[in-house]
Amino acid sequence: MRLYDTKARSVVEIVPVRPGQLSIYACGPTVYRDAHVGNMRSFLLPDLICRVAQSQGLTTHLVQNITDVGHMADDTGLGGVDEGQADTEDRILAQAGLEGRGALELARGYEARFHEDLAALNIRPAQAYPRASESIPLMIDLIQVLLDRGHAYVGSDGSVFFDATSVADYGALSGNRLEDLRPGHRFTAEMDSAKRFHADWALWKHAGDSRTQLVWETPWGRGYPGWHTECSAMSLDQFGSSIDVHTGGIDLRFPHHEDERAQSNAASAGSVAGGSAEVVQHWVHGEHLLFAGRKMSKSTGNVVLVRDLVDRGLDPLSLRLAFLQHRYRQQFNLTWEVLQTADGQLRRWRERVAEWAEAPSAPIPADLQAAFELPCQEDLDTPRALQLLREAERIEDLADGAKFEFFAWADQILGLDLVRDVGKAPQPVPESVQRLMEERAQARLDKLWARSDELRDAMAELGWQVRDTPEGQQVTPTR
Ligand code: AMP
Ligand code: ZN
Repeated sequence: MRLYDTKARSVVEIVPVRPGQLSIYACGPTVYRDAHVGNMRSFLLPDLICRVAQSQGLTTHLVQNITDVGHMADDTGLGGVDEGQADTEDRILAQAGLEGRGALELARGYEARFHEDLAALNIRPAQAYPRASESIPLMIDLIQVLLDRGHAYVGSDGSVFFDATSVADYGALSGNRLEDLRPGHRFTAEMDSAKRFHADWALWKHAGDSRTQLVWETPWGRGYPGWHTECSAMSLDQFGSSIDVHTGGIDLRFPHHEDERAQSNAASAGSVAGGSAEVVQHWVHGEHLLFAGRKMSKSTGNVVLVRDLVDRGLDPLSLRLAFLQHRYRQQFNLTWEVLQTADGQLRRWRERVAEWAEAPSAPIPADLQAAFELPCQEDLDTPRALQLLREAERIEDLADGAKFEFFAWADQILGLDLVRDVGKAPQPVPESVQRLMEERAQARLDKLWARSDELRDAMAELGWQVRDTPEGQQVTPTR
């Protein structure tokens, strides 16, 4: 498989360090609210990588963290203003305050909903979901190693900072060179004065007495972890000093991943005989999702959740199909119309697959299989793969049984439940709809096209979609 590697700035071949097993670390949700459909796009990326790798005979080991402490409102440069919170507030604590709940109670509630959303989109579970709040000892060990190796220091406020200048190639991932980073960049004046250099960042933050939740005793006093510390500590713990692929949304490239890379490399360099100092072999980022032309943001009310789709009667997998219709590296503007169309397409495919399933099974032509695999393996070109499904549907001399096998096989990568309707007894067509069909057949014979369209709309209102085929009208339920 080939993927676009952010650091190499090109599409490269992914060769697992441990032969036959691909290790993937995916940055997970900050569980202070429901994940929106933009977040879900980023969470689909590791699922697709796993499915394609598995189709090539690799086993996959996916770990996705749960951030339930330490993600400040200013950490991505999006949150503070966007969410209407003070820049230095922990997102979990701020929301817990607003909802009048305990911080961990809030976090566990949204974590459970995150898993429901993954399931609704057929995103297969990871092998592990380590929680930041339960990984504090790992972080303390990591910080100690960084202190011992001279990559970190205790600042004048008792926080522990990473010394950005101690890493020769800081900036290799994002292209942000140290000399270009200006003081004041996303840091409060208070923090700035505690550290030696403006681009240093806190591995561990000193807590004042007012913080009563999500706070831990350490050799450096009472405090809580920096967001980037979490992902280094958890990924190194899960995978040792080598991870094949690390994913996240494009906004995480800097500072989250740049800083995580610096920490992980600094902590592991020389720890494995002959090992590479580059812990993460490939950083892979997904582009952002827009909705109706605007970025997803709580404050402007432009947030769509998976459950909003369900409330509108849409299959949540229509979202998955809409995502697959665009390359993960393209910005993509989602609209309700796009979702409606995807929903219709899904239903149509499922019906056809159910029809083909009645025919005797036939082998998938090897060239068709290869033609589908190729784009999947070439930087997840899912739009092209979907196009092949449409083409296969239309190949006249391809047996129905082979079409069925092809769609069922392709769905192992696509994850659209295309075989869902197979074996389902067709719903009897109600008399009211049958009468409309007869009337419509007559209208078409009389070439009364406007009347024919009216009757089509009347059927749609009753929940039936009509298609005109060479054999006449065919109706299928839409609900
Ligand atoms: P968070 O829960 O804020 O920590 O974000 C979880 C993931 O969603 C991260 O990988 C972000 O990069 C990603 N993300 C945030 N907003 C969007 C968006 N509009 N489109 C795609 N991914 C996003
Ligand atoms: Zn992360």
